[in-house]
Amino acid sequence: MDWYWVSSIDSDAGKKFSCLVRNIYGQVFGYVLLQVIVLEKRRLGRTDLKVSVIGFGGGPLSYPTVDEAKRLVRYAFDRGVNYFETSRVYGDSEEKIGMALEDVRDDCILATKVRHRSKEMAARANLKQSFRNLRTDRIDLVQIHSVNDLKTLETVMGKNGALSALKEAQSKGKVDHIGITGHMPYVLSRAIETGEFDTVFVPLNLIEREAEEELIPLAKELDVAVIVMKVYGSREFYWVQRDSRAENRAIQFPPKDFEQIFGRSGLERAQKSLRYVLAQDISTIATGFSHISEVEAAVKVAEEFKGLTEKEKRDYRFGQMPPEPFCRDCGLCLPCPDDINIPAVLRFDRYSTYYGLEDWSRRFYEKLTTKVNSCSECGECDAKCPYSLPAMKMLAEADKRLLSR
Ligand code: SF4
Ligand code: SF4
Repeated sequence: MDWYWVSSIDSDAGKKFSCLVRNIYGQVFGYVLLQVIVLEKRRLGRTDLKVSVIGFGGGPLSYPTVDEAKRLVRYAFDRGVNYFETSRVYGDSEEKIGMALEDVRDDCILATKVRHRSKEMAARANLKQSFRNLRTDRIDLVQIHSVNDLKTLETVMGKNGALSALKEAQSKGKVDHIGITGHMPYVLSRAIETGEFDTVFVPLNLIEREAEEELIPLAKELDVAVIVMKVYGSREFYWVQRDSRAENRAIQFPPKDFEQIFGRSGLERAQKSLRYVLAQDISTIATGFSHISEVEAAVKVAEEFKGLTEKEKRDYRFGQMPPEPFCRDCGLCLPCPDDINIPAVLRFDRYSTYYGLEDWSRRFYEKLTTKVNSCSECGECDAKCPYSLPAMKMLAEADKRLLSR
């Protein structure tokens, strides 16, 4: 019986190569061209590491049992995923990743986070335990976790802030690279401008696109790697995590307009959003996995991805931002003395007017306990907005639109 001997696979390049074909007597009788699909790798900014474009987000890993989690992580590794991302705040996720990858440690890029803000706590309570959990004496990337406002950024970067602990660990050769994570592109842009961070981890999906305006181009200019979170909105392939996990779960029963734009099934929505994000200038998408089928689905989309079609570009308004004035969702106008969730109201209005999600947005707005009619017109939001938006006026117009039928 003939057998096939693969001479080499250029996995960095993605897909293609030639291989030798031999028969049982070892005689080489030719080259054939095979199309082999290998998960694409992209450069992780100035770290120069090569990461699989689909990364493994360890957020949901506390749900499966140890054995299930090990199987899941290992399945992802076998499918070509080499970027594994976790945190001390994700239950026992670090331990499970550490156990699953111990024998292939050097073939993986391990990233974790410190959630403490002070130097002492970051080093003492966080990093030491992370090394034990991950079963390694060297971590490729440690990120300062969830920096969502400028005050916190100032704290972590101060003399006694968490960044000093990471830099110390880096100088001892225990941490290779330092990154930052958060949900507010405005704050993250200010962070990477300092030159202290090699990577930035930020939400990006079909409708949560604020990072595209300033952060991604700036990161490109500074050679800082962009790692994407919340590509599906949430780990169950439902949309817009922060809205769906808030006080209502309405998104599980999306109205017609939502389905028309994003697809009927969770899988279809996930595929669309993955394709949209794969087309961006980003290094990897670290999406949270809790089941092998989710890994399989994500890897398949990435393997087959050859760029967006012209129709997709039109449908998704690829490369465009909403018309001015639009809220960037940075949250810097909060707190409102009348307790109005200003960015949420303007977000629902944007979803309604720009993305055509009228019913869906109304449904969310109706559920907000404090609406714009509570506004005492103090003008603070206008004064605080770094984009000089007429926020108060925009809120009044949004309220009218969202409540009209
Ligand atoms: S103008 Fe209205 S919405 Fe803006 S901060 Fe004041 S009370 Fe809040
Ligand atoms: S109104 Fe301005 S400050 Fe408030 S969230 Fe939007 S962009 Fe940020």
